[in-house]
Amino acid sequence: MSKQIVIIGGGATAVSAFAHLAGSSGVERVTFVAPGPIGLGTAFGTTDPALLCNTSVDVTALKADGRSDFLDYLASRGHPAHRADFAPRYLVGQYCRERFWQYSDTARRAGTRVTHIRDRAVAIDRHTDADTDTDATAYRVALAGGGSVTGTDILFCAGADNPVLPPELRPYAGHPRLMATPYPSHKLRRLPADARVLVLGTKLSAIDAAVTLCRTGNRRTVMTSPSGMLPAVRNRLVRPAAPRLRQDVWAALAASGTPEGPADDTALDRTVARELLSAIRAGAPGARVARPRLSGRPATLLREERHRAAAGRIPWEDVMAELIDTVNAQVSRWRADVRARVLPRYRALMTRYISAFPLRNATLLDGWLTEGRLRVAPRYPERMEPSGTGWSVRWPDGTTETFDHIVCASGYRVAPLTTTATGVRIGGGAADGAAVEADDAGPRPEILETLRIRLRPDGPAERIWALGAGAGARFPIVNYLRAAAQHAAVVADQLGQYSPGTTEPLAERTAL
Ligand SMILES: Cc1cc2nc3c(=O)[nH]c(=O)nc-3n(C[C@H](O)[C@H](O)[C@H](O)COP(=O)(O)OP(=O)(O)OC[C@H]3O[C@@H](n4cnc5c(N)ncnc54)[C@H](O)[C@@H]3O)c2cc1C
Repeated sequence: MSKQIVIIGGGATAVSAFAHLAGSSGVERVTFVAPGPIGLGTAFGTTDPALLCNTSVDVTALKADGRSDFLDYLASRGHPAHRADFAPRYLVGQYCRERFWQYSDTARRAGTRVTHIRDRAVAIDRHTDADTDTDATAYRVALAGGGSVTGTDILFCAGADNPVLPPELRPYAGHPRLMATPYPSHKLRRLPADARVLVLGTKLSAIDAAVTLCRTGNRRTVMTSPSGMLPAVRNRLVRPAAPRLRQDVWAALAASGTPEGPADDTALDRTVARELLSAIRAGAPGARVARPRLSGRPATLLREERHRAAAGRIPWEDVMAELIDTVNAQVSRWRADVRARVLPRYRALMTRYISAFPLRNATLLDGWLTEGRLRVAPRYPERMEPSGTGWSVRWPDGTTETFDHIVCASGYRVAPLTTTATGVRIGGGAADGAAVEADDAGPRPEILETLRIRLRPDGPAERIWALGAGAGARFPIVNYLRAAAQHAAVVADQLGQYSPGTTEPLAERTAL
């Protein structure tokens, strides 16, 4: 029996999975299930040339190994790109879309039928096909439109495209002056040139919102978030010429982090700090390595970091790509309770430095902050409620301010998977940011190191794989195309090792 692969999702992760499978023998068909065009997901589906990647061309490719395929794509289209550049995100979307067509040709030449069903998947259930004479497990993917499609292997690549509406704004979901997400950015560009806009968020999508709002007109934009911190500033995120992190030391961290291990969390923190410092110093001998900054006035910090970046004095930036790979590879092997205990302590650090943003955007923000067109509020509002045609916002110091619009840039959630008697239910899908929490109620499947899911602790690994953001319960850093491309390679390797209807693969590649 040949493989019938269903890829749920149509963003960069889905295309990366396809890139690793196209041309393989024994694949009868690949069916994409995604409501929109393949290749154009949330982050890279933009058409706005002002919205930049925060990852360099070097690590923003559909295949993680070797020379950057995105760099080759840009060069072949006449774009003067360097591997350290932060490309506009719409170019990544075009790259994914064109590669999708190319890989479709490759697959068809190998005898694989490629189809795209424009719908959302709402459930995956085990299903035995009475028409086949094998007892091989197949899966039925139920669609929101009422139809279904079956497959022997299911790749869940649905990204994180459910906008998060902060709880205090949920009663106002659908309000005409409340935007659940800053995308598509033309919605923001259409706001009146003198609008007063509150942006909820201070991370990458909030920076996109500020760039879109402040670039034209004379709008007054205020950014606010519970942390009040902007990401750090960087010049590049590229793979190092030679490794600087000692994998044996990082591999031993899990043991030192377990309650019964030889050392406590303090020892783990010390090891992490020592290893990072020595890796940073190895690349920048004699450089002063400043302590990570997780508090302070955002505008002052931004100015300092912008100047340091412009002067080429960001010694930590060339360790980041290797650090992300290392953390994903090592932490995914830790026990779930160790991950749950250790990772939250590092969350703020990872958010600020691993998701640092490009100098070009930092320079724009600094300029608008200086001109007074942009402000980063030191605190998060105590209350936000509709008032007249706009919003009344009360700050913790007791003052009240009015805004014409509120734009949520408070992050995205992955479509929640909950287990059912025969498979999983896929929640989410509300474009207005209405809470996905209700969809979330119920037991979660476990994501194994192989990226396969298991419905119950004593159950078998299903032939359902979670890639990209869907694997976030196992891998700490998934909002990154390189991580998704690494997942795609791991899954393709496992799929290549066996056929449906035969016994399970002899060995499963797990290491990233
Ligand atoms: C503002 C922003 C900027 C970013 N910048 C970068 C960057 O510079 N570099 C980088 O590496 N990463 C960046 N990321 C992370 C980036 O999103 C990931 O790297 C990666 O591209 C995600 O691709 P994806 O296909 O997994 O998800 P998405 O792009 O979100 O695509 C998800 C796809 O799944 C579909 N889908 C969702 N639910 C279902 C369902 N139930 N059934 C069927 N289809 C479904 C959607 O319609 C869509 O086609 C950024 C993210 C954001 C939000």
